[in-house]
Amino acid sequence: MTKNKEEYCSFCGRPKSETDMLISGMEAKICNYCIEQAWDILQEERKSNVKNITVDHTLLKPFQIKNFLDQYVIGQDDAKKVLSVAVYNHYKRIGRTVQTNDIEIDKSNIILVGDTGTGKTLLARTIAKMLHVPFAIADATVLTEAGYVGEDVESILTRLLQSADYDVAAAEKGIIFIDEIDKIARKSDNPSITRDVSGEGVQQALLKLLEGTIVNVPPQGGRKHPEQKMIQVNTKDILFIAGGAFQGIERIIANRLRTHVVGYSFAGHKEEHVDMENLLQYISPADLKKFGLIPEIVGRLPILTYLNPLDKEALKRILLEPKNALVKQFVHLFEMDNIVLTFDDEVYDYIVEKSFEYKLGARGLRALLEAVLMDAMFELPSQQGKVEDFRVTLSYAKEKLAKANLAKLKAVS
Ligand code: ADP
Repeated sequence: MTKNKEEYCSFCGRPKSETDMLISGMEAKICNYCIEQAWDILQEERKSNVKNITVDHTLLKPFQIKNFLDQYVIGQDDAKKVLSVAVYNHYKRIGRTVQTNDIEIDKSNIILVGDTGTGKTLLARTIAKMLHVPFAIADATVLTEAGYVGEDVESILTRLLQSADYDVAAAEKGIIFIDEIDKIARKSDNPSITRDVSGEGVQQALLKLLEGTIVNVPPQGGRKHPEQKMIQVNTKDILFIAGGAFQGIERIIANRLRTHVVGYSFAGHKEEHVDMENLLQYISPADLKKFGLIPEIVGRLPILTYLNPLDKEALKRILLEPKNALVKQFVHLFEMDNIVLTFDDEVYDYIVEKSFEYKLGARGLRALLEAVLMDAMFELPSQQGKVEDFRVTLSYAKEKLAKANLAKLKAVS
C-alpha cells in the first residue's frame, strides 16, 4: 500500500500536518499562517493608502479647495470660503503626526443654513469628491432615539461604512452630511416635559457622534439583523457637515439685530446697514439656539455659514456653467446618438423663468429640461443616421412645456 503523498502550502512550504488548515486553490494550496500574514499585509497596505490621502489633503490649500468648488457650485462664495478653510483645518488636524505642546485642535464640524435646493448637499458632496474620501448623507428627520420607531443614530455610520466598502480606516476619515438638522430642533425654546423622541433625544444622541466617540456599528444597518457582528468606528476624525433650511429663522435674526441696533447704536450697526433682503448672512449661533438646537449641538458645529437664495441669474448659470451642468449632460447624451443638440439662448431664460414662477428652484431645472426634450429623446434615437442635429427653439420649448404637466413637476421636486 502506498502512503498518501503529504500536501504542502505553496507559499511557505509547510506540510499539512504542521498547519491548522490547508486550503486548495486551482493550482496551489495555502495554509492558515500564510492567510493571516497576507491579511496583515493587506491591512498595512490599506492603512498606508489612507495616509497618502491625508498627505494629499494637507497639500490642498483653502484657495485651491475653493477653486475646485467653483467648478461645480455656482455662487455661494461666503459658504465656499468658510468651508474651504474648515476642511483645510480639519484635514490638517487629522494629518498631524506629532502632537506639539499638548495643543489639541478642536474638531471643525460645519453647519450650513440656507433654503432647500441652494446647494448645501452639493457643496458637501463636492468636497468629498475632491478629497476622495467616503461620503454619506443622513436625513435627520428619520432618526429617533434608540428603542423608538425610526432609525438609530448609528445607522448614519452604517451608510458611511458602506460607502467606504467597509474599509474602517477610510470611513473614519470620511465626511457625513446630516440633512434637515433643523427638523430635530426642539419645538419650543423651553425644554418640554413630554418626551420628544425625534427632537431633543436625537440631538443628544448625535452629540456623541459629533464630539468623537467609538461606536458599535451594525454593518447591515437597522435593527433587523440582531445577530450581525458589530464593527467599531471611531468618529473623532469624521467631518460632519449639517444642513438645514431653518424656515423662519430670519425673524429671530431680525429680532436680535433690532435689539442690538436699539441697545447700542454704534457705527456700522445702524439699521440702514442691515440688508433686510438677505438676513441669513447675519446668522449667529445664538439664533440656532433660539430656533431650538440644544447649546451643546451648536457648540459641536462651530463653523456656521449660510447660503444665498438663488436668483434667476444664478439659475441660468447653474444650467450652463458647472463642470457637469445640466445642458452639458443633455448635449452629451445626444452626442452619443451622433446628434448635435443646440438651444437658442431664449430657451434658457424661458426655463429659468418657469422654474422661478413655479418655485421649483435649481432642482426644477432638470425636470423642465427633461420635459422639453422628452419627445426628442424618444423619437430621435430610432432615426439614427437621418438626423444629425437638433435645435431647440423658444417656440418648440414653449409647445413642449405647455403639454407637460408642470403641477406634477412641482410635486416631484
Ligand atoms: P440642498 O441640499 O441645499 O437642499 P442641493 O445641494 O441638493 O440642495 O441642490 C439640489 C440640486 O440643485 C443640485 O443637485 C444641483 O444640481 C442644483 N444646485 C443647487 N444649488 C446649486 C449651486 N449653487 N450651484 C450649482 N448647482 C446647484
